[in-house]
Amino acid sequence: MKEPKGAEILILGTVQGVGFRPFVYNLAARLNIAGTISNTSDGVRIQAYATPDRLNIFLTALTKEAPPLSTITSFKTKPLYDPFEGDSFEIIASVAGKEAKTSIPPDIALCDDCLSELLDADDLRHRYPFINCTNCGPRFSIVETIPYDRPYTSMKSFPMCEMCRDQYNDPGDRRFHAQPNACPVCGPSVSFHHNSGEQITTDQPISLTAAKLAEAKIVAIRGLGGFHLVADAYSDSAIHSLRERKGRPDKPLAVMMADIKTIETHCYLNEKEKQLLLSPAHPIVLLRNKDHMLAGNLAPGIDELGVMLPYTPLHQLLFNEPDCPDCLVMTSGNVSGAPICTGNEDALARLSSICDYFLLHNRDIVTRVDDSVIRVSGNRSQIYRRARGFVPSPLQLKLNLPPVIGTGGGLKSTFCLAREDSAHLSQHIGDLFNLESFDFYTESVDHLKRLLQIEPKIVACDLHPDYMSTHFAAELQLPTYRIQHHHAHAVSVMAEHGLSDPVLAVVMDGTGYGPDGTIWGGEILFSSLTGYKRLAHLEPLMLPGGDLAAAEPWRMGISALYNAYGEQGMEEQLPEPVGQIPQEKRDVISAMLKAGFNSPLTSSCGRLFDSVASLLGVCQKISYEGQGAIELEALARRAAGPDWLNRINGFIGENERCVLCKDGGKLEIYSSEMIRLVLAALHSGRTREETALLFHCLLIASIEEIILHLSQQTGCRKVVLSGGCMQNKLLLEGLFYQLAKHNVQAFTGERIPINDGGISLGQAIIGGLQHVSSDTHEGY
Ligand code: ZN
Ligand code: ZN
Ligand code: FE
Repeated sequence: MKEPKGAEILILGTVQGVGFRPFVYNLAARLNIAGTISNTSDGVRIQAYATPDRLNIFLTALTKEAPPLSTITSFKTKPLYDPFEGDSFEIIASVAGKEAKTSIPPDIALCDDCLSELLDADDLRHRYPFINCTNCGPRFSIVETIPYDRPYTSMKSFPMCEMCRDQYNDPGDRRFHAQPNACPVCGPSVSFHHNSGEQITTDQPISLTAAKLAEAKIVAIRGLGGFHLVADAYSDSAIHSLRERKGRPDKPLAVMMADIKTIETHCYLNEKEKQLLLSPAHPIVLLRNKDHMLAGNLAPGIDELGVMLPYTPLHQLLFNEPDCPDCLVMTSGNVSGAPICTGNEDALARLSSICDYFLLHNRDIVTRVDDSVIRVSGNRSQIYRRARGFVPSPLQLKLNLPPVIGTGGGLKSTFCLAREDSAHLSQHIGDLFNLESFDFYTESVDHLKRLLQIEPKIVACDLHPDYMSTHFAAELQLPTYRIQHHHAHAVSVMAEHGLSDPVLAVVMDGTGYGPDGTIWGGEILFSSLTGYKRLAHLEPLMLPGGDLAAAEPWRMGISALYNAYGEQGMEEQLPEPVGQIPQEKRDVISAMLKAGFNSPLTSSCGRLFDSVASLLGVCQKISYEGQGAIELEALARRAAGPDWLNRINGFIGENERCVLCKDGGKLEIYSSEMIRLVLAALHSGRTREETALLFHCLLIASIEEIILHLSQQTGCRKVVLSGGCMQNKLLLEGLFYQLAKHNVQAFTGERIPINDGGISLGQAIIGGLQHVSSDTHEGY
């Protein structure tokens, strides 16, 4: 038999834009291997020629020593029998193919090597705000199409100077084939402007920005994936004007801090949180406030701050200015409800009424990507907003799906493109309630389809008939699967943890359309990957005024009182904060509840939180989604000492029950009894903090009791915890703790959001599997 002369190696995964080809080149040089490497739309293809033992060393080293930002998902070799015409190893041009299976890497924070060059007065890129290398810099946000090569990125308009080109072509250089490679001579630059748009001539635009920030001015800064509105985080007045001009009275504002030391001064920080802050993605991490030295209006009613570290060279230069405050508010540069601005013209038009100055640059942002948000709960980190640093990396599934798109929901929208064993969740798009967000959504669908070369053959969407994402699905004219909202929440967690057998799913959520036409939201499902049974849910409450009830918790407060005590009893029980609401307003609501007028029923857990938030006087009107629940959690946390988990059972007295058994044995979380216990606690003089904690513990205990019962009934000992309300740390940690006592294994979303940002993944999986199995066990 003929002896092979070499081997062809096909590698799939995140292997483009992460320094993979230079790594292979250098490895081949070291081992004296001849041949070629090229990027393909499939990944990279290597043809390597050497003696069999040297080839073996090469193959092992390829996976063992691969660059830190690469991930290999498939590695295939085949022998080559014809000899190679040459004796060196070369990097050859990329070949565009039909189906891309390789993934474009996400944007990566500035690396340490580039940071030291940035601050080195002798370096040619000293103080150059766009310094990058194969290990760092923009990726997803500048890519127009595949393969990932400079002519297909927004760097195409910056022809490289001689130095940059030499480095780009030198396989021994850190910038070898770094697509965004640039320097002050040939690359993008920054400029400083009045909010009128007029440029202010200066050779120090970044120092000027720092000076203005120190004077409590607001500057709109063009960043990596979009604009930020930036202000001094110590200045109450700067933040006050930012909030006023942006029409954002209460929603917490994210802060960028100069370095880890600064963060440790202001916030409690554990090892896991520190690692996340410093990870290549540099996300926003929610941290507990420590010294309360920053402006009090950063996050009203909440004892946490969303904090990130500088992730671009421009951020580093800004903090490096002596004038610059070491903590800066960095909030999305958008007008309320619209996506963040990415283009200079667009920003000048829309943000000029919010900011005082602009710091612009001329490297186009092809794809908008917000900052990602993560919170550590117990020993788990949970992503709440998945965007910069994570998208478009795929989630590997233990499934085989047809090409499918999940179109998501209404709030915190994302979509998901999946094929075979990979699912790609889009970046956070935002609430899909206006045309601008919808444009961003449809553009992103087209863009990601092109980058991933996935052409969906089927579509999966929410059951809600009015979501824009549902209408979008209908327009695709593909076989369509309409997926119940909470089933999708459950399956997204199942998929992340590779759970293929049915589980009990506790989905505590705001709003989801039920197949019975009512509004669901506090559900315990027996869920498989293709179907579900609704085994238990929250005792329903009326929503006086429909959607308005979600915006005005005081309506839910009255509804909960009415449900618990009836029309007569409620007046006697009225807690003081609700008593302060004018009598005539309360009477209108009572009349609506009595007549059942415009008061649909809901099993929503979010609305139960709202009602307790109202009764305790935490919040009567909200200005951002989830505000009632978030502030109620913050209140309860003040009463929760380090041992609170051990106290959960003690909160429920001998004769108190928080589970209701209906006719036919169906279980409900007994919310009216919880309300009675909450009010009894208040009237007996318990503090608001203690009462808020009591409510959390009652909810935990009731879910625990139902799960134990259902686990016996079904024989299932695995539980997934999902839905927006599960972002509540007390609720989540309490459930993990209680369930573990009974040997019930619990799972929740870590890399995929458990809020509505994760449902598109669940939809894609359920729809995809229903399509191939013709299996739709929907039922309730
Ligand atoms: Zn670098
Ligand atoms: Zn250059
Ligand atoms: Fe939801």
